[in-house]
Amino acid sequence: MAGVRDRNESAWLLPNDGSRTNHGLRRDMRRFADTDEIDMVIVGCGAGGSVLAQRLARAGWRVAALDAGPFWDPDTDWVSDEAGSHHLYWTEPRVIAGSDPVPMGSNNSGRGVGGSMVHYAGYTPRFHPSDFTTYSADGVGADWPLDYADLRPYYAAIEQELPVAGEHWPWGDPHGYPYRPHPVGGNGEVFLRGARKRGITAKVGPVAIVNGRFGNRPHCIYRGFCLQGCKVNAKASPLVTHVPDALARGAEIRADAMVTQVAIDRHTGLALGVHYMRDGRERFQRARMVAVAGYSIETPRLLLNSASSRFPDGLCNDFDQVGRYLMVQGAPQTAGRFDAEVRMYKAPPPEVSSEEFYETDPAKDYKRGFAIQTVSPLPITWAEHVAAQGHWGGALREYMSDYVHWSCLGALCEFLALPENRVTLAEEKDSHGLPVARFAYSQCDNDQALVEAAQAVMEDILHAAGADEVITIKRYAHLVGGARMAADEQHGVVDRDCRSFAVPNLYITDGSVLPTQGSANPALTIMAVAARAADHLTGTD
Ligand SMILES: Cc1cc2nc3c(=O)[nH]c(=O)nc-3n(C[C@H](O)[C@H](O)[C@H](O)COP(=O)(O)OP(=O)(O)OC[C@H]3O[C@@H](n4cnc5c(N)ncnc54)[C@H](O)[C@@H]3O)c2cc1C
Ligand code: SF4
Repeated sequence: MAGVRDRNESAWLLPNDGSRTNHGLRRDMRRFADTDEIDMVIVGCGAGGSVLAQRLARAGWRVAALDAGPFWDPDTDWVSDEAGSHHLYWTEPRVIAGSDPVPMGSNNSGRGVGGSMVHYAGYTPRFHPSDFTTYSADGVGADWPLDYADLRPYYAAIEQELPVAGEHWPWGDPHGYPYRPHPVGGNGEVFLRGARKRGITAKVGPVAIVNGRFGNRPHCIYRGFCLQGCKVNAKASPLVTHVPDALARGAEIRADAMVTQVAIDRHTGLALGVHYMRDGRERFQRARMVAVAGYSIETPRLLLNSASSRFPDGLCNDFDQVGRYLMVQGAPQTAGRFDAEVRMYKAPPPEVSSEEFYETDPAKDYKRGFAIQTVSPLPITWAEHVAAQGHWGGALREYMSDYVHWSCLGALCEFLALPENRVTLAEEKDSHGLPVARFAYSQCDNDQALVEAAQAVMEDILHAAGADEVITIKRYAHLVGGARMAADEQHGVVDRDCRSFAVPNLYITDGSVLPTQGSANPALTIMAVAARAADHLTGTD
């Protein structure tokens, strides 16, 4: 951990008086005029956008990150309550289509400073080296224009800044974590017991939840509200891990600013800045460079909504690549009932995981694999799980009153990147009069085979642990892709440094650029890719 404070002081810039927000830092932050030609304007202050803002501010760049949502204050804006946390989600209208449409909202995207990581679970695994070459190794997915070794130092740096706690990780590129593993609760114990009985290796972690004290961030109190926005500041999100340092180094974070278009000079073809809405007024921020980091749905949507005479089919879309190869992970969830109480709510939902089934197994008739993790839904999400099984009325009440006896595991299946799974613009308009995103999604045979295999393993683990009943629902998690990086402009939107092929001063630094997704939760990789892009921009790579 040596030197992390020298690189990122966020945790020490938070207050140490029981409150959660450094109001002075926000009040006194640098503010640019729209007419200032700043060095970089960033669209979106989530996982990718905030890391870029912090790195560039440290390098002395004049940078502003505009976010459509609020500048959250954990003390006043968040509650440790499921129903009271719906305002954390991006619930603007979106149209879904395809043979396997993906419901949008709570389980996939957030809004406001900190982005979706404000209500993400907190798992932070690395991708495996094999994720970067799935096409040449297995004939599926795509090869990245960079490889694992290019990201390794960025993984290690971000793991220190979050910081991540977990056991030594034996899978992929074996590595340790800066903080020791957390003690586990009832659900984690069930997973470890069942896995041990079946000879499956499962490990505690990796989670971006403070185990001990980190700067002025306190130890986790194990109350289990990680997906509601951690009021304690123990769970990492950019709001506490990168934004404070960005502000202290002169970045502006402009909340409640919805970017509607990236402006392009029709003579030079270069980006000039962004149009945005704030306080009901249309404004324009000039900038030398633009980075888009609005999440896998809103980033392609913004590019498509930024059509101009130079880019009549959408910005960066001359080769019909924008919005394509969008991926979700298949995320079936299996619950098991035990006679003894499990009380899965009494711990962070992210506790224990296994990547034993992550890689392609030549003995199977499908490619790539899946990971298994504890998920521990709170009561409303548990009711959704039970209702999705068709239980209603008296049966639903019975399952609900039995809640403390249930344990729940989730899988992340590597669904493949397919060109027809994409974002386009719908006829419908949002409150700004802009076409909303239409997201079409259809699974392939390999995707479905992975879900079946993952379900069988989870049910087996829960039975081995002693469950007398198991129930599984099918669901999705984690969108990535839609503006992927590639070797050339005929196969993607940005290059290995996140620079768009079409507009030399336009970058994309969020999950949209990922060409494949592995079976790993994506936030750590998104941050690592953004940190690498920042080094490229500042000439320190
Ligand atoms: C319930 C849930 C659980 C999750 N659990 C995990 C987990 O355990 N581990 C993990 O790794 N990942 C998890 N994720 C996923 C992870 O949070 C996301 O993959 C990651 O945050 C995406 O990063 P991003 O930079 O692409 O976008 P985001 O972090 O979503 O940031 C995008 C930001 O852009 C803003 N924005 C969008 N459009 C505009 C616009 N036009 N103008 C201005 N601002 C705009 C949004 O308000 C948002 O703040 C979870 C997500 C959810 C929702
Ligand atoms: S369980 Fe820990 S990390 Fe999760 S919300 Fe509570 S204090 Fe935060």
